[in-house]
Amino acid sequence: MFDQYKYRNELLKKYLLIGFVTSVLLSPIYYKMGINYLAISLNIFSVLMVYLFINSKKANKYIYNSRFFMITISILFIIGFLDGNQEINSMVFVLLYPIASFSIRGPKEGILWSIVLLSIFISIFTLFLLPYNKYSFLFFCVAYLMVSYLLYFYRYYEIMTFKSINEELENIVKERTKELEISNKKLEKLASTDVLTKLLNRGKLNDFLESEINRASRFNHIFGVIIMDIDHFKSTNDIYGHNVGDKVLEEFATILKTKTRVTDIVGRWGGEEFVIICPQTDIEGIKKLAEELRYIIENNSFSIVGNKTASFGITLYCEGDTIKSLISRADKALYRAKEEGRNKVVVL
Ligand code: GH3
Ligand code: MG
Ligand code: MG
Repeated sequence: MFDQYKYRNELLKKYLLIGFVTSVLLSPIYYKMGINYLAISLNIFSVLMVYLFINSKKANKYIYNSRFFMITISILFIIGFLDGNQEINSMVFVLLYPIASFSIRGPKEGILWSIVLLSIFISIFTLFLLPYNKYSFLFFCVAYLMVSYLLYFYRYYEIMTFKSINEELENIVKERTKELEISNKKLEKLASTDVLTKLLNRGKLNDFLESEINRASRFNHIFGVIIMDIDHFKSTNDIYGHNVGDKVLEEFATILKTKTRVTDIVGRWGGEEFVIICPQTDIEGIKKLAEELRYIIENNSFSIVGNKTASFGITLYCEGDTIKSLISRADKALYRAKEEGRNKVVVL
């Protein structure tokens, strides 16, 4: 985002340079004219400008530096003004004061500095009856005020522009972030979903298994795993072709998804094998679920191929289990179900 202080600090540096050069050039002239106090003031002023310039390398000192600068030029202009021998017309350079105050202190403080200096001028003029022409002085005040107001509106407009640019940028950033979040979510989903069945893929199942194992080992929480394998699926492919096989896999996925609890985690382990992770379930509960699924599948009429069955291997998490040991136990149970004639649920 646009940093106003950095920008204004750069501006302040330019003012310090201009101030330094001007005072160095003018002081010998004042010495020559015999106005020694002004010449000395200019010398002091030029030293202060150098000090502030070095200090302004640090942008965080900006507020201190810019106010210090305003105070020094105020004092200088007051000293110049007190030199009542001059025509007020020759004081037109005082109009530089509002320009400096508005550009380096912004609209609110800018108007304050300008009005304070003018008030000091008016007070000095009326109190000490300086030999300036009354009308010339009045004209000077009006010109000074006009410049101040013009600058005020200019700076105000500038700040409003900054603000609206910032707002626009922020909105663009927000929009882009939202778009990114959406596409990230899409990507995440894509990376964790099986293309054919739209169930979780093996990678995501592994993530869930890992977090369930962590929870189980830490909080004494129980969970079980079901591995389901479609019986004689190869012959389905051989007889009806791969496309029909795919359709049957999708129908199996729909049954598993709709007939399990919301808290159960269903995914495709690979080929015609599916895994269901059942958190907070004991052996009776998980057996019941597998039996129900087996029964539903047995009695379901799949499109084109008609009846199909599946075999189930079940196991519960035991202390010290890893993903590998847990899955291989469930696999063994599945193998036994196949051996015992398929369309069976076996617990190990
Ligand atoms: P079993 O009862 O012993 O499990 O016999 P099976 O024929 O189901 O087992 P096997 O492992 O011999 O065959 C699995 C078949 O699943 C082989 C493969 O062509 C098929 N298959 C695996 N993935 C897909 C897939 O994405 N689409 C289709 N159409 N078939 C698949
Ligand atoms: Mg298989
Ligand atoms: Mg099979």
